[in-house]
Amino acid sequence: MLNFKIASLCFVIESIAIGLLCYFIEISLWWFLIPILSYKAFIIYGSANIQSNFYTKAHCTAVTDEKIIAITFDDGPNPEFTPKVLSILAQQNVPATFFVIGKNIQGNESLIKKMDAAGHTIGNHTFSHSFFIDFKSKTGFMYELDATSDIVYNIIHKRMKFFRPPYGVTTPHLARASKALNYEIIGWNIRSLDTTSDTEERIANRVISQIKPGAIVLFHDTSEKTAQVLKQTLNFAKENGFKIVSVEELLKIQAYG
Ligand SMILES: [Zn+2]
Repeated sequence: MLNFKIASLCFVIESIAIGLLCYFIEISLWWFLIPILSYKAFIIYGSANIQSNFYTKAHCTAVTDEKIIAITFDDGPNPEFTPKVLSILAQQNVPATFFVIGKNIQGNESLIKKMDAAGHTIGNHTFSHSFFIDFKSKTGFMYELDATSDIVYNIIHKRMKFFRPPYGVTTPHLARASKALNYEIIGWNIRSLDTTSDTEERIANRVISQIKPGAIVLFHDTSEKTAQVLKQTLNFAKENGFKIVSVEELLKIQAYG
């Protein structure tokens, strides 16, 4: 599997080889564009695709034949939409994992309590979820993770160990911060795209058509459409013999440290 170290090694070897060819048989310096552009392409692909495990291991699915899947929600808590999601999950007695943004918790502490009391898992989705978060240093990412961890700890007295990188983007600094703080990175293999302009029907069909054993579904409890899509997804799962389990149960790893 191609990762950051292998891509970097390939870049160095290719560059040395082209350097030698330039020296001995005087090929054009334009040949250096090959390692430079391919390295750049790998970096962009690896950073943007959490499933590539380019910089760090991310759990995006479970290897199993059992008809079990996990459901996750990012970007909350949201005073308008999180209660709707919690209500549907309660009606169907289904567990979920909420990757919360620290700055969204203030004023919504009761929602964090409700999630925990209902048996749902809470994971870290950074404090700011800033659009520019991927330019942060290792220390910057550690602050983002620690700040949210402290806020959640003060409410439910549990230390989160699950971390979902904002936008699914990983960087070397994010990987180092996550490792230093002993987080498990949780990705997904079904992206609902429930915050796009697609209709609820289309979003539900996209999710349902990809459901298979071991899947981790990504929703957002910040979208008006999510409640309806969630209902359809849970109905499909029930009708087709899929059991919704927690991410801990699916991956057999601890959510809290
Ligand atoms: Zn997010």
